[in-house]
Amino acid sequence: MITLESVSKQFGQQPVFTNVDLHLEQGEIIVIIGPSGTGKSTLLRCINFLERPEAGYITVGDLRVDARKASRGDILALRRRTAFVFQNYGLFANKTALENISEGMIVVDKLPKAQAHARAREILERIGLADKADAYPASLSGGQQQRVGIGRAMAANADVILFDEPTSSLDPQWVEEVLGLMKQLAAEQQTMIVVTHEMQFARDVADRVVFMDEGQIVEQAPPEQLFTNPQDERTRRFLRKIL
Ligand code: ATP
Ligand code: MG
Repeated sequence: MITLESVSKQFGQQPVFTNVDLHLEQGEIIVIIGPSGTGKSTLLRCINFLERPEAGYITVGDLRVDARKASRGDILALRRRTAFVFQNYGLFANKTALENISEGMIVVDKLPKAQAHARAREILERIGLADKADAYPASLSGGQQQRVGIGRAMAANADVILFDEPTSSLDPQWVEEVLGLMKQLAAEQQTMIVVTHEMQFARDVADRVVFMDEGQIVEQAPPEQLFTNPQDERTRRFLRKIL
């Protein structure tokens, strides 16, 4: 239901990856790991054209987009089917938690404001921030801000949520509450692609772990298999360093 076929991306003359293929079924949760500078963020950002890939096909649900020919309409349609959670939360500083969550429903989905706010309140309840509806990001902890970031992604009702190192900007004391919320989404069969260094999260939650190195998907397997019996020397070397 999410498929990348032969997706290629370069910055200037420098290729980041060439002909990457990846497939996820609905409800599947994959974690992408790999060394710094390997292209994990770029791959994630290419899925919804935050970075434009030069070539390849991206399919989300019933929409298949040819990167070479993607129109503005294709890109907007793709973005509606995907939601992104950023390392640095990406919240509007001048909007409350409620407004951050309802904004997309009003602007993109054209819901009446009252309806969008009602739905945002339900989401605030689910993310444990019902009492923070009127709080601005600056008055929230990092963990609370990232939960709002995830709440905004939930509001988009997307086919897939893309997480780029959602806990790596957080002080250690807030990491668990954010991972806990992600686990809650996972338990609800939310399709997700998560770039993270949280190996315990990968073990607990991922259906499949994808190891990337130098712009290539080197191997992918269920976590217990990848962590205990990696097939490629590059994977073994990476795991030795981090486990
Ligand atoms: P990290 O684990 O450090 O986040 P990553 O695997 O997410 O690394 P990317 O950020 O995708 O790696 O970067 C892949 C390569 O592309 C790197 O060589 C990086 O310098 C380069 N790159 C990323 N974004 C840009 C950009 N906007 N312009 C030019 N080069 C870029
Ligand atoms: Mg990155």
